[in-house]
Amino acid sequence: MTTTVRTRVAIVGAGPAGLLLSHLLDRAGIDSVVIDQRSRDEIESTIRAGILEQGTVELLDDLGPHSRARTVGHRHDGIELRFEGEGHRIDFAETVGRAVWLYPQHEVLKDLVAARLAAGQDLRFGVTAEAIADAETDRPRVLARDAEGRPLQIEADFVVGSDGSRSVARAAVTGSSQGGYFREYPFAWFGILCEAPPSADELIYSNSPDGFALVSQRSDTVQRMYFQCDPDTDTAAFTEEQLWDELQKRVPGTTLKQGPIFQRDVLRFRSFVAHELRRGRVALAGDAAHTVPPTGAKGMNLAIADVRLLAEALRRSLLEGDERALDAYPEAASRRIWKAQHFSWWMTSLLHVTPDATDFDRRRQVGELRSVVESAHGRAALAEAYTGWPFPS
Ligand SMILES: Cc1cc2nc3c(=O)[nH]c(=O)nc-3n(C[C@H](O)[C@H](O)[C@H](O)COP(=O)(O)OP(=O)(O)OC[C@H]3O[C@@H](n4cnc5c(N)ncnc54)[C@H](O)[C@@H]3O)c2cc1C
Repeated sequence: MTTTVRTRVAIVGAGPAGLLLSHLLDRAGIDSVVIDQRSRDEIESTIRAGILEQGTVELLDDLGPHSRARTVGHRHDGIELRFEGEGHRIDFAETVGRAVWLYPQHEVLKDLVAARLAAGQDLRFGVTAEAIADAETDRPRVLARDAEGRPLQIEADFVVGSDGSRSVARAAVTGSSQGGYFREYPFAWFGILCEAPPSADELIYSNSPDGFALVSQRSDTVQRMYFQCDPDTDTAAFTEEQLWDELQKRVPGTTLKQGPIFQRDVLRFRSFVAHELRRGRVALAGDAAHTVPPTGAKGMNLAIADVRLLAEALRRSLLEGDERALDAYPEAASRRIWKAQHFSWWMTSLLHVTPDATDFDRRRQVGELRSVVESAHGRAALAEAYTGWPFPS
């Protein structure tokens, strides 16, 4: 027996994109059902992004006291680019008058889930979408199964696929689960979480002859660090001592504060943009629509920027019968998506050492780094992109 639920907007995926969209729709008086294949506990404990752009924090302010980004998170007014053993601070406040916040994604998700449940949101964990049907009719449907395997159908005026990089919804929009522009990089990040005090006050993006490393923070007692590795690296291939050696040799000038490593992962680098972001009454948002390599810290921020546009477009369509913003959504979202794609690719190529890099490539890269840090315009361009381009009104 299939259970059928009816709502105005069916949202597949309770990541940052899906949850924030349900909040913004609720504020506009539009009801939605959000489903996610994972449990609440899994969603709230998976370690992923850590940097929130200023515009993201301002949007999250709309959650009221539920958003702890400003109270528990840490405002950062700059980052350091390090190369040839020397650090160069990019001062966000001085160059563009903006900032970023270090506030882990799973904490953002805790805030969003709490806010949605407090508002009475129909939010269903352990429910997996299998397909989207009837995208080009005015009654699209999500075909799903609950945790016990029972079929569930959600009928809606509109369906949003915010179901991450392995999106099921994508096939209903682009015609295939793969349909998009794609690039893979010849390296990955080896990430660790460790129990130690911070080694620096701000993030250090370090380019060294041994490859890239990122020193970032999570809290006063937990730190997140990454170093460039081969995409096929086995996480068990290093002892703790070897991991610290790998990190330390890539951050000359800073003595890393070491502590027990309690999580390690290898993060492959991919850039992807779906060929289409909307078909009929189905649209994609967040990682379902695009992924970026993590160097520019853009993934979650871009997901949030999509739903900001989409929520307003849905409000106009569903409440005012005005389809223009919805028709414009793919183009409007794409502008920011491709800027973020460019910035993420550029930061990646600026800082990483490719396996086939020659002496020429290495010297050219240092020249490029110098032309950023030694120019007020270069520093400002990086700061503007990193803190997030202001949203158009
Ligand atoms: C290690 C790491 C570090 C990162 N660092 C940063 C950073 O510093 N800054 C930044 O901005 N971004 C960063 N990112 C990227 C960021 O985490 C993602 O871009 C962000 O999670 C995208 O949000 P989303 O809501 O679109 O998708 P997701 O967060 O992936 O959420 C999608 C949800 O859909 C659910 N789902 C999937 N398929 C189905 C289905 N068939 N049925 C039901 N539910 C489904 C999933 O369970 C998931 O909860 C990082 C990513 C990683 C992995």
